[in-house]
Amino acid sequence: MERKNLWAPWRIKYVQGLSGKTSCFLCDDIASPEEDAKNFVLWRTPEAIVVFNRFPYNNGHLLIAPSRHIAHIEEATELELTALMRLIRDCQKVLSLAIRPHGFNVGMNFGRCAGAGLPEHFHIHVVPRWDGDTNFMHVCGDTDVISQSMTELYTKLVELSQKNNLPTV
Ligand SMILES: [Zn+2]
Repeated sequence: MERKNLWAPWRIKYVQGLSGKTSCFLCDDIASPEEDAKNFVLWRTPEAIVVFNRFPYNNGHLLIAPSRHIAHIEEATELELTALMRLIRDCQKVLSLAIRPHGFNVGMNFGRCAGAGLPEHFHIHVVPRWDGDTNFMHVCGDTDVISQSMTELYTKLVELSQKNNLPTV
């Protein structure tokens, strides 16, 4: 069977920025609610935060993270684990309303060797998928297109969240 990966060339900026970085962008986002729109923070709950991945694998790629700076899932409380799982559900709900994906990848990476870009603060990726999107992203994959569509989608998700009382924590 042919192996198909999403091709996301704009991510090179992110990969190049990884070395020597010590700050945690999730904690930076959590600490500055007045900059939520600028930082693409979609939701805040007592236990967690939902932000756009600014270097997305696909349109609508969201990150769900506990509000606490913890690296390992075993450090999370039962309350946090439940909150994170509910947010996976709500992310799928709002993305389905907004952009009608055909499917989702939901996943976590622990450790740099496993592909974690920020191993010190664990988080869950929610990546919308469409039939044939591996080909589509190759055609449209430049940074300007992505950041433009990200701003539009952010506005749309904020509106839909208000209209549908999301997140339903
Ligand atoms: Zn952190």
